[in-house]
Amino acid sequence: MEAGTRFKVYCSQCREKVELPAEDFRLTLGRTPEQAHYSFGCPRCGAAVRKAAGAKIVEALTAAGVRTMRLVPVDG
Ligand SMILES: [Zn+2]
Repeated sequence: MEAGTRFKVYCSQCREKVELPAEDFRLTLGRTPEQAHYSFGCPRCGAAVRKAAGAKIVEALTAAGVRTMRLVPVDG
């Protein structure tokens, strides 16, 4: 894990480009790669932004030590 990794992201709410440290992100993985997404709180407008995470983003966030949640079906 690399300490101090930062990511530049676009806020879909205020459309500002913001830079946040890895610990401000949350990665959520579903049963399929298409369900993967990441979320962060925008420091500019305070919006809770949620975006789809492609394989490369998942890899980068995981490598940076971002907290990961894995969704599993309740009624399997
Ligand atoms: Zn924003």
